[in-house]
Amino acid sequence: MRELYPWQQEVWQRLNGLRARLPHALLLKGAQGIGKFDLAMNLAQSVLCEQPRADGMACDTCPSCHWFGQESHPDFRLLQSEALAAEDGVGEGGKKPARQIIVDQVRALSDFSNLSSHRGGYRVVLVHPAESMNANAANALLKTLEEPPGQMLFILVTHKPQHLLPTILSRCHGIAVAMPSAQASLDWLQQQGVTDASVLAQAGFAPLLARKLAEQGDASEEHELVIQALRRPEEMDEFALADRLKSKRVEPAKVIQWLQQWCYDLAGAKFAQKIRYYSQYSDSINKLAASSPVFELLQLHRDLSVAKREAYHPLEPKLLFESLFASYRQALRSRPEKSV
Ligand SMILES: [Zn+2]
Repeated sequence: MRELYPWQQEVWQRLNGLRARLPHALLLKGAQGIGKFDLAMNLAQSVLCEQPRADGMACDTCPSCHWFGQESHPDFRLLQSEALAAEDGVGEGGKKPARQIIVDQVRALSDFSNLSSHRGGYRVVLVHPAESMNANAANALLKTLEEPPGQMLFILVTHKPQHLLPTILSRCHGIAVAMPSAQASLDWLQQQGVTDASVLAQAGFAPLLARKLAEQGDASEEHELVIQALRRPEEMDEFALADRLKSKRVEPAKVIQWLQQWCYDLAGAKFAQKIRYYSQYSDSINKLAASSPVFELLQLHRDLSVAKREAYHPLEPKLLFESLFASYRQALRSRPEKSV
């Protein structure tokens, strides 16, 4: 059984209250990094459990719970992209894993939904995250949701409900999973042995992301590599750099922050003769700032802000790194006279 996080008690009671008359499809929506997937897995296990506890949680001892724990429950299917599965260590090596849930994965459910349940109870399908379904997959799922098989529960997990088909949304019973309070998150982080409270703000106040950031440490060696590369954009090898960052599992949000601070200094040097973060490299910064065009600098700043919002769980961090470094190199390479 997975952890039910302290801030999930209330939402758990709401979910548990639905058990008497389960809808065909539930949509758990809320911010990234607050434990929606674990919540969904707990619900799936407890719906399949043969002797759930009084609070609705799975018993963890019945045959059904045993299979669930072994990831081999015949009445459960987890739909996620290959890339995400690979992150959990279940993917196949070699070819690049797909980032989307594809239509074949949804079609493969048809046998599952046509046969009767193996254990005589519910069958559960968890789609995570639901917005990673491509258009064909979403349409195929919609067909199933329009004529739902009996005794079958779909649990969709999403942090981008606006990216789902309205027709799918309308077929789901939506449950908003609230952001925990900062205090609840801090208390929990402390229990997890995370002593640096600043990671919570860095993670946009999402506690699970904060724990991940803390576990990844400060990556100071990679920080130095990135800054040295930024000092000499004309020599930058963004592919090698992205490879290194990925292999060291450096958090994308962290790399974006370094880039943002560096660009902040470039703009500061250009417009206000002020350098805030990297004053030890003021020579390089002044030189780069003098030759970099204003428009490109602003555009780069905008790109970084967008990237930051989406950076906490990119499926392909390496691609993200490459494209950020390439944008930087190009912005610095353009000369004012070239931009019209
Ligand atoms: Zn059980």
